[in-house]
Amino acid sequence: MPLQTIVVGGGICGLSTAIALRRAGHHVIVYERYSSEADAGAGITIRANAARILERWGLDLTSYGALPCTNRLLLDGKSLRIYMESDVAQQEGERGGLQINATRSDLHQLLRREVERPTTGEGTIKVLYDKHIVDYDAERPAVQLAGGTWKEADLVIACDGIKSKAATIIIGKELPAKPTGFSAFRLLLPDAKIREVAQKFPNDHFIKSRFEKSTGEVWIATEPPDRVLAWWCCRFDSMHAFDIVIPDHESYASSEEWLARCDKSILLEEFRHWHPLFGEILSKVEEPLLWKICDRPPIESVYRGLLCMLGDALHPMGPYRGQGGSQSMEDAAVVEMCLRGVTDRAQVPRRLELLQSLRVPRYACSQMASTVRQNEPNMEEHYQQVLDEAGKWFQGQDQSHLSDRNTFEIWMDKYDAAGEASKALERIAATDYARTCVSSSKI
Ligand SMILES: Cc1cc2nc3c(=O)[nH]c(=O)nc-3n(C[C@H](O)[C@H](O)[C@H](O)COP(=O)(O)OP(=O)(O)OC[C@H]3O[C@@H](n4cnc5c(N)ncnc54)[C@H](O)[C@@H]3O)c2cc1C
Repeated sequence: MPLQTIVVGGGICGLSTAIALRRAGHHVIVYERYSSEADAGAGITIRANAARILERWGLDLTSYGALPCTNRLLLDGKSLRIYMESDVAQQEGERGGLQINATRSDLHQLLRREVERPTTGEGTIKVLYDKHIVDYDAERPAVQLAGGTWKEADLVIACDGIKSKAATIIIGKELPAKPTGFSAFRLLLPDAKIREVAQKFPNDHFIKSRFEKSTGEVWIATEPPDRVLAWWCCRFDSMHAFDIVIPDHESYASSEEWLARCDKSILLEEFRHWHPLFGEILSKVEEPLLWKICDRPPIESVYRGLLCMLGDALHPMGPYRGQGGSQSMEDAAVVEMCLRGVTDRAQVPRRLELLQSLRVPRYACSQMASTVRQNEPNMEEHYQQVLDEAGKWFQGQDQSHLSDRNTFEIWMDKYDAAGEASKALERIAATDYARTCVSSSKI
């Protein structure tokens, strides 16, 4: 019999996990506390490790006009002087694919369309919106809806984000993600508005070239030690996405909300001393989204009883490696493999144990590397220190992927989460078979 499962949260992780569970043949009910229209207007980059998962599921983000990242420019925010240009397209083979530049809402639409697609011969998915889960019971397992009703299942997976209620139950104590001292302004601007900006610089050939090219070029403008602005095009070049990271400041750091709208005058003030291009761009913004960047050191517990957590609930991390959402999709890919062929809830604990053993070292490294900001002083030394510390998650195992930054970043991009899970399952099956042979020969 297929499992009856509950997923809490309809974000990137929740929808990916629902797709994965259905592909493994199980029935899923997703509870999302917001209405189906709720959406955060910002961009997202999908690293190659996650882009391949979408591809494996037959989901094509380029059909929404997302662009593979082909070129990356690192430049000085005040002067526009180029520090470094990377022809990322050349790395495609080495990294197992390219990063995809997209908007969050397009990724969301893609996942939602897949969730709603009628299927035959697989499990099923039902998404229930405006359903707030207020409590969990890890042993039954069950979730409690606002209003008091409990809903039981064979397995509950909490993908309830950075302020997860399930995390407290699974970890066994309050261990919230903490502010890192940095905030991100996240915004989308239509191409028409950006073209108005271009007209202000008619004689600047460098700026003009940025607007003339229809590209997967990403600009990363920085002001060491702590300001970064990342800019890319998406949605068939009709939309420009900006992620802008700056240190927390008393004028907005006191907000209790982690995701909030803020007054654009703050943003203009923060970048007044940058090249006038950025002032012109930022003057087009209406109400930027302000996101306080929070993280938590890696934890080793992915589940308790028959309650499991994934995504930001499990591994909140900073945005500096672009891996938060991508790790959530890896979680889901591993769920698919680990729960394939499970026909009884009695089999679930062992599969959750396997999921945990596969995921912890991987997301732990990703979280640790995501504490290193692009333009911090002594960035290379800090990165190497983090990689050395990450060795503790791979004791007794090959650690060559931690030898240096480049090797690590290739490993991050090239990792095949589903393939690794599949190999681990084969190893378990072989061990079980050997055990059966030994015990039957004893008889
Ligand atoms: C500035 C910034 C830039 C980033 N850039 C990137 C990037 O380029 N690439 C990348 O891969 N990642 C990026 N990330 C990280 C990425 O956004 C997150 O890792 C990802 O969105 C996590 O998805 P999630 O589904 O786990 O959590 P969420 O997106 O937070 O979704 C959780 C869902 O659960 C619902 N929910 C919560 N509690 C309940 C409840 N009690 N009952 C019912 N529903 C509930 C919420 O409404 C929400 O829909 C970035 C993050 C930041 C802050």
